[in-house]
Amino acid sequence: MKVERTLSLNDNRKHLPHAFEVPEGTTRIHIEFDYNPPVSQGQPYRNQLSFSLFDPEGPRGVQYCINGKSITVDANQATPGTRPGVIQAGTWTVLVDAYRLLPPDPITYTLSVSLSSDPLTNTPTVWTQGTKPSKGIGWYRGDLHAHSIHSDASWDVPDLVRFARDHQLDFVTLTDHNTITGLAQHDSLSDENLLTMGGMELTTYYGHALTLGTRQWMEWRTDDGDILTMPQAAQRVLDSGALFVIAHPMAPGDPECSGCHWEYTDMRPGNSPAVEVWNGYWTDYNENSLQLYYSWLNEGHRLVATAGSDIHGQPPADEVGRGAANVVYANELTESGIFEAIKQGHSYLSAGPELLVTARSASGIEAMVGDVLPIEDITIFVKVNKADAGDVLRLIVDGSVRTIELITESGEFTWDLPTGTGHWFTVELRDAANDMWAVANPIFIGIPEPH
Ligand SMILES: [Zn+2]
Ligand SMILES: [Zn+2]
Repeated sequence: MKVERTLSLNDNRKHLPHAFEVPEGTTRIHIEFDYNPPVSQGQPYRNQLSFSLFDPEGPRGVQYCINGKSITVDANQATPGTRPGVIQAGTWTVLVDAYRLLPPDPITYTLSVSLSSDPLTNTPTVWTQGTKPSKGIGWYRGDLHAHSIHSDASWDVPDLVRFARDHQLDFVTLTDHNTITGLAQHDSLSDENLLTMGGMELTTYYGHALTLGTRQWMEWRTDDGDILTMPQAAQRVLDSGALFVIAHPMAPGDPECSGCHWEYTDMRPGNSPAVEVWNGYWTDYNENSLQLYYSWLNEGHRLVATAGSDIHGQPPADEVGRGAANVVYANELTESGIFEAIKQGHSYLSAGPELLVTARSASGIEAMVGDVLPIEDITIFVKVNKADAGDVLRLIVDGSVRTIELITESGEFTWDLPTGTGHWFTVELRDAANDMWAVANPIFIGIPEPH
């Protein structure tokens, strides 16, 4: 099959299907895709198209945006982003996904599919699950958002895992754009000191979200099939037992970063239990994501805050160390242990310093981050380590700054919060330039809602 199609700006954010028949005895499929112009005249950003492959039973692979322009798949091997496996006879489909079409030029793509029935001479790559850590209750530091060559990153899965080890992380999560094909290799690289966790980044035209703790392909297209809304897509993720996290909601959107800004008006935050408020290095858009998160807490939603490096390759040497990790108090260093703790908000986000926040109500009920206290006088205890002199510790109550302390490298602080002062509080540690160093998940005051 060979198709050439010229797109108009009306095709922006559409999914364009191309079905083809695969006869019995086919051993390999090769797809070539290209489009022109890559950059429209006078535009600062590239046109951006992806294509996805579906076999007769479901999703099979994707070439996400700036990644390669071909897919080869057979029973043993496949291009990264696509799953190897038996080539079923029947109707297969390529969906061309138009993420960003910029004027003035018409954009033309060509798609060609070639089938082969030659006997295979290659062999499958078998990934064996690595050793899993056997560590019990404690604080664990790790990443919930990272990419590999299976989508648009410049590095391969082992490079990500090596980077995580070099930074002494306890866990690392691979979340490629709309594909899970790197996860088996990722899981083969775990050992006693590093837990590998799985997920995917639902990379839609109107926002990104992480599906965490799953090895399943999750559908991100909300305008066809049996998923009609993003809350329905999220519910499917949640019903599978995975965690759903709205990613970088206030990142720049169209055209600078098409789809990166969270635009789902029916999901602010809707049924999302978590929001990534710290994406990569601390930026203005992270500040805006954090303030959005605070406004959602003020509406009564009891959401969890997460961080993610969103790393796509080796960062420049002068940037290393400013992205945030999730520091999680888990019953054990297992995938279920980490995600159970994150769902409960038992974590803080930190680019380095230790920030331990606990509280006690007048009747003696103790809380850690994520917990709920009764409406009583509350005493808050904060312990900071490995900060810098001149850093600023801020108590945030219902989104507003209540108390500020200038601190040295470490210290312990006790604050009183009289009955009726607020509905939730948290603690931020910022440097002298007001950039975030660490921020805790909130402690809530009042009748608990189910998480
Ligand atoms: Zn994203
Ligand atoms: Zn990402």
